[in-house]
Amino acid sequence: MTECRRPLDPIDADALAAGAEPVYAADAAVHAAGCAACGARIRAARGLLEALDGLPGPVEGLSGLADRVTRLRAFSSRERRTYALWNAPVLLTAGLAGAGTALLTLPTLSAGEQVSVGVAASAPLVALVRSAARWALDFLTLAPRGLEALSQGMREEGTLGLVALALLVPVGLALSRVLLRAPGRR
Ligand SMILES: [Zn+2]
Repeated sequence: MTECRRPLDPIDADALAAGAEPVYAADAAVHAAGCAACGARIRAARGLLEALDGLPGPVEGLSGLADRVTRLRAFSSRERRTYALWNAPVLLTAGLAGAGTALLTLPTLSAGEQVSVGVAASAPLVALVRSAARWALDFLTLAPRGLEALSQGMREEGTLGLVALALLVPVGLALSRVLLRAPGRR
């Protein structure tokens, strides 16, 4: 196939392939009729159009999507004020943040400079950890006798590492509540 000295603009090739008027060269159709290279370009564009036309229609949506969206609708103002709905995420977030900060403040980890920076940056969270630790100890004290012994041990040790361990209790409770609410488990 010989090279074309005046190749068609791709837009004109597409227009001719679709049966429309060319945009740039008014004589594009005449030129393509006598030019093998441009004729082949138009046939290629027509093949692409036909392939696109042959594609299947829109894929069927996810089954049950509407139900799930409805379930995930915004909370009403009354629901927003109901702490029971936010109990699990609040406990989960506080527990994870507290446990992570407690790990940062462990003596074995605070040796490195990077960790020192982390401790400085997370200083406001330490207060949260301490209050959460008190809450966890209270919880353990009120818990059945098996947990009471553990609570006693933690009071005697009094290290933040055990505090992080104690925080696993609220985290576990929150996680179990979250998992119970997961779709498909109802
Ligand atoms: Zn040509």
